[in-house]
Amino acid sequence: MQYHLNGYSPGNPTETRPKQATDTTNTSLPKEVDVLIVGCGPAGLTLATQLAACTDITTCIVEQKSGPLEKGQADGVSCRSMEMFNAFGFAHKLLQEAYWVNETTFWKPDPLDAQRIVRVGQIYDTEDDLSEFPHVILNQARVHDFYLEAMYNAPTALEPHYARRLLDLVVDEAAGPLDHAVTARFEATGDGQEGVTETVKARFVVGCDGARSRVRKSMGLELHGDSANQAWGVMDILAVTDFPDVRMKGLIQSHDQGSIVLIPREGGYLVRIYVEMDKLDKSQRVGERNITVEAIIAKANRVLRPYQLDVKQVVWWSVYEIGQRLTSSFDDAALPKHTARHPHVFIAGDACHTHSPKAGQGMNVSMGDAFNLGWKLVAVLRGQSQPALLRSYSEERQAVAQDLINFDREWAGILSHRPTAGAHNKTDGTSEETFESYFIKSGRYTAGTAVRYAPSMLTRTKEHQHLATGFDIGTRLHSAPVMRLADGKPMQLGHVVQADARWRLLVFSDASAPTPLSAMGRLCTFLNDSPDSPVRRHTVQGSDIDSAIDVRAIFQQSNRALEINDTPAFLRPCKGSLGLTDYEKMFTPDLRGGKDIFDMRGINRRLGCMVVVRPDQYVAHVLPLDAYEQLAAYFSAILNTADVQGK
Ligand SMILES: Cc1cc2nc3c(=O)[nH]c(=O)nc-3n(C[C@H](O)[C@H](O)[C@H](O)COP(=O)(O)OP(=O)(O)OC[C@H]3O[C@@H](n4cnc5c(N)ncnc54)[C@H](O)[C@@H]3O)c2cc1C
Repeated sequence: MQYHLNGYSPGNPTETRPKQATDTTNTSLPKEVDVLIVGCGPAGLTLATQLAACTDITTCIVEQKSGPLEKGQADGVSCRSMEMFNAFGFAHKLLQEAYWVNETTFWKPDPLDAQRIVRVGQIYDTEDDLSEFPHVILNQARVHDFYLEAMYNAPTALEPHYARRLLDLVVDEAAGPLDHAVTARFEATGDGQEGVTETVKARFVVGCDGARSRVRKSMGLELHGDSANQAWGVMDILAVTDFPDVRMKGLIQSHDQGSIVLIPREGGYLVRIYVEMDKLDKSQRVGERNITVEAIIAKANRVLRPYQLDVKQVVWWSVYEIGQRLTSSFDDAALPKHTARHPHVFIAGDACHTHSPKAGQGMNVSMGDAFNLGWKLVAVLRGQSQPALLRSYSEERQAVAQDLINFDREWAGILSHRPTAGAHNKTDGTSEETFESYFIKSGRYTAGTAVRYAPSMLTRTKEHQHLATGFDIGTRLHSAPVMRLADGKPMQLGHVVQADARWRLLVFSDASAPTPLSAMGRLCTFLNDSPDSPVRRHTVQGSDIDSAIDVRAIFQQSNRALEINDTPAFLRPCKGSLGLTDYEKMFTPDLRGGKDIFDMRGINRRLGCMVVVRPDQYVAHVLPLDAYEQLAAYFSAILNTADVQGK
């Protein structure tokens, strides 16, 4: 798909007229809600889209700007974020519109003439079978658009309230964990609205309000960290150049003019260039340098010598300094004065962690924070789980942010390293080689697939990991191809995990036929009939049997060797008001690509196993097929029994 040929135009490239922002400036804020989200960045929109699917939960999302973002800011969407977008139902739209990062090239000073750069390497951007999705590049504003569309099309038709700025919030310390304990005050920012204030009471407030978060300040928290005292410029441009790799992601180090990170953008013409600018003095802020876009363009031309960059249009540009900062907690209950109570206020995204943008992690990690929190809020608000579950958000995501800060510090240092001409010929592991080798080494990290939650109530130890070595406990479910038994549809197993706050139990059969006495048959009998069955225990009466825990079976046989009516009836549940059969619970390997999911993910063929998957797509537990008690105990620690839910 090619666009922007005659200049940049924001919005949906398939629409001829730019989209108008919905005017919510004159709609009053609700007086009371379950969840109040402050900020319409990637973190806020991820959370709002999850909650928009829940008709039993009231949500309000407020943004100080007068409408949706139109351009600029982040653009890198990791493989892991694409997997999450698939759970929201819009990954296919990004695949169509975005630039796909397939290969990355590396440029360094020419050993024969250090004033010229030469290509020294070219690699695949992601390793084989890392994810079924590519790493893509798309304007953050378009990612916002997809979220806004999904929110609006959800059952609650949720829309942001624009043009309101949060002033402050106060928590009633005497309130119970599910009371409307937080009072938030907003001021209108629209024309003619000056001085108008509104108040919202909420059970939970989530500050997705960026690096200068008011929510964080109201909690009494600060970002701690340091600055590398290095200024960078970034610009989205339409340009003509003889640089041959302008449509490849490129990491370019010049001899004495600094570095460039070049990222081709959607539409076939647009390109983003990050340019290393001046070293700052110790106490100097980047704003004090008055760096202009002309200076960024001139510097880019010096780095790219002997190639030239003739900029035809600057679509967006900015300057920033590298710094890594992190807060000590992502919720208000972890503060020393509040450790006895459960959280009412959370922060997510840039409100908790900031770092340099070139590793493309800002938007991705921010969305990951919100995806982690969303299902936990749903579970607690529905009475499925105790409020204590909410504490796991800060525990899990603070550790992820700390890793990000460490990674970013290392990566930023490597990018600013001055290479010597001819350094790429070295094979002795000296620092000049680090640029390319570090990029390869950190491939899983930048793809977002290296996140691993530590063992906890939610994510268990590796006692039975040997039964499924490729479903690494604590990491995201690594999808693989399967074929749906009933209709022979080739698909990805991971795509059964939608952003609907449900748990998944993936049951990988042993080699035997699924008779009533087989391990699969006996497990299904337990799940269907036993009073100890977690499916029975945690499903509210009258709801579909898969509404809390969705069980899926994967057999080893080919689909033609299995007779559907011989499979356990539990795997063909009757659902809905008409009691229709759900035929989409059973799968077999899809062997047409020559690869079998049992081999790809190291499933023990003799014993089979159960894999518990959290609502945010992370592997929580691996268990033997007959570990009924352990399975029941796992869910009992997290989910309330159905009779107390909603009370
Ligand atoms: C100018 C800029 C340039 C960037 N450039 C890059 C880049 O080149 N590459 C890259 O990878 N990342 C970049 N980033 C970072 C990236 O955009 C963020 O990491 C990502 O957007 C974080 O998402 P978030 O939802 O946490 O916060 P944000 O995207 O910052 O969203 C916060 C939202 O909250 C709103 N808000 C703030 N305060 C209030 C308030 N009191 N009341 C109501 N609303 C409020 C803001 O208007 C904003 O819409 C840039 C960020 C900025 C701000």
